Amino acid sequence: MRNFRILMVGTELAPLVSSGGLADVLAALPAALRELGADVRIVMPAFRQIPHHQRGPVIGSVSVFLNGREQVGAIREALSPPSGVPLYLIEHEGYYGREALYGSSAHEYHDNPERFAFFCHAVLQGIPMTGWKPDVVQCHDWHTAIIPLLLKTSLAEHPFWQGTRSLFTIHNIAFQGRYSADRYGMTGLDRALFDNGTLEYEGDFNLMKGAIQYADALNTVSPRYAREIQTIEYGCGLHGLLAERSASLYGILNGVDYRVWNPAADPELPARYDHTDVAGKALCKQALQQAMRLPARPDVPLMGIVSRLYWQKGIDLMLDALPALAEMGFQIAVLGAGDHALERRLEDCIPRFPGQVGVYLGYNAALSHLVFAGSDFFLMPSRYEPCGLTQMYALAYGSIPIVRRTGGLADTVVHATDRRIRNGTATGISFVPKTSGAIIRAAAQARDLFSSPETRAAIMNTGMRQRFSWERSAREYLKLYERITS
Ligand code: ADP
Repeated sequence: MRNFRILMVGTELAPLVSSGGLADVLAALPAALRELGADVRIVMPAFRQIPHHQRGPVIGSVSVFLNGREQVGAIREALSPPSGVPLYLIEHEGYYGREALYGSSAHEYHDNPERFAFFCHAVLQGIPMTGWKPDVVQCHDWHTAIIPLLLKTSLAEHPFWQGTRSLFTIHNIAFQGRYSADRYGMTGLDRALFDNGTLEYEGDFNLMKGAIQYADALNTVSPRYAREIQTIEYGCGLHGLLAERSASLYGILNGVDYRVWNPAADPELPARYDHTDVAGKALCKQALQQAMRLPARPDVPLMGIVSRLYWQKGIDLMLDALPALAEMGFQIAVLGAGDHALERRLEDCIPRFPGQVGVYLGYNAALSHLVFAGSDFFLMPSRYEPCGLTQMYALAYGSIPIVRRTGGLADTVVHATDRRIRNGTATGISFVPKTSGAIIRAAAQARDLFSSPETRAAIMNTGMRQRFSWERSAREYLKLYERITS
């Protein structure tokens, strides 16, 4: 395997700038690739969240003509903490010095196409100043989507970029960078790319559409999601184009950082345990029941949820199923934040089902560890799930996942049929219909398992021994880089 030079382009990087899973990927994947000998560097906007003392020196300035004005910025050279992976920052106070990364979920910043177009143009201008030429530019999500397009159009003859390949990684097809045509000037792109249909989408422009057509290869964060987005049900309007590129579209699962997610060494837990001895889990259950104001009963099945509370996650379906789950005797502990209507509905359930529903609204990393450790089952009824991390954490912590069989959930949870229970491969329960009825049927299977201690212990044990390491993901990415550069 060659020692690839890989430039990762994205907008988030844990722990500096984070709004979701992308930040974790951009922290973990480069570090894992480096362990395997790759020379990986990251480039991202110098968002206000990045303290000045961590930004490193300016190594050049960039200027881009957008929306009728020249915009000037700088490129800095730093190191990403704690991995030490080289980090280039594109600085522009007007674009990135704001309170939020993208605006609020209800009102994103009006000039987002301009903010991220500037970023893309600046990356392609700034990286040549470093003298370090990547073999592959891996672009993450729509904010970086015009890079593969520029590499194949206006920069096709640029001497520095000759031979560099592009990989476009889709973390969530629902976010495409689609805007009304009157903002097209913000992108700094040739008008012809809109007029000839490359970027045009139902009268708007759609930046991800460009990347899908021009990247040398595409990937998503699970094999199943890579197939799903080629269908009308999951492709959010881009399924046709994705299906045309099927031969260049790959799925690679994200990994888990088992230094953080390990019940045998987790400082957030009142007791530690592993797959050889799960005794400590009982104490974790008790602590979780206390934290969620539920009666501390070892004899009732406890179902946990840790989730952003949005339509994607099927929380409304769970709420519809909740009376039946309570009737079956479950306790339900929900940690989450998001949609206000869903938050209210959850809170309303606390008095309706006394002693059976515990809710913590907000983001609480420490409590999330306790939910995985203290619950018997972990529910994830997602309508779609590109990869999903929490079901993998639940597996590691011996909380049996109950998931809708979609995307990464289908790729990581092995449904407990009788045969799989017998041959020791079952790790959880999964269902297909996007209905509360399907959740209720899955919960009934879970309740039966709860009263069959031996079977339950065997499924837990198989789950706890699963390993979704970043090293495994990184090896697959290396194979993909090999494929697109040879
Ligand atoms: P998504 O990226 O769609 O939100 P994932 O399952 O891939 O879903 O990742 C979600 C991450 O956010 C997990 O690490 C999960 O533990 C964490 N998380 C989500 N909601 C909360 C919360 N309310 N408190 C603490 N952690 C949360």
